[in-house]
Amino acid sequence: MYSRNKPDVKQLLAYLPIIKAKDDTQKKSEEHKNIVRRTFHKSLKFLLSPLYNEDNGIELELNNRILWCIPRISMIISDWPEACTFSLTYKSTQSNHPCHFCLVSKENLSNINLNSNQIEPRSHKNMKLHYKNNTEKNVSIEKVRNFFWNVPDINIYAATVPDRMHHLDLDLFHYQLNFTKALILE
Ligand SMILES: [Zn+2]
Repeated sequence: MYSRNKPDVKQLLAYLPIIKAKDDTQKKSEEHKNIVRRTFHKSLKFLLSPLYNEDNGIELELNNRILWCIPRISMIISDWPEACTFSLTYKSTQSNHPCHFCLVSKENLSNINLNSNQIEPRSHKNMKLHYKNNTEKNVSIEKVRNFFWNVPDINIYAATVPDRMHHLDLDLFHYQLNFTKALILE
């Protein structure tokens, strides 16, 4: 955790293309927004496909030993708008299903009495089905193929964690623990 934000643990892999609109009208058009979304997911394909090539792997030097490693993505750290970009859920607070992790309705978003069987998690399977049946609006996702649907060993809706940096590095987690403790004691 202490090394997370140090420069020596970071590695720049690539620059992502930015699609420019010719004017504001074009910028706000659904067509342009979809081109931006598609370009992002296609770029991810170029960037990340080598990770999922079966005969691939890297030699990693660790404690003076060479280890054969197959890298995988386990988590995507993001803020809320970035989580929408990765999961392709609607970037609007007025969205009917604003959570990128599950299908909770906006009316129930702050309902603390919901139990777990009233919450349906998003998965590659159910989202892909809505995309195929042209019912993606019912679950508040964009009409764009999600690159991660073809990636094994990851559920993009669960792996994208908004504000993990704030949560772990900026002590929000401790605050939440103490807050909950005080609440229980009350
Ligand atoms: Zn949720």
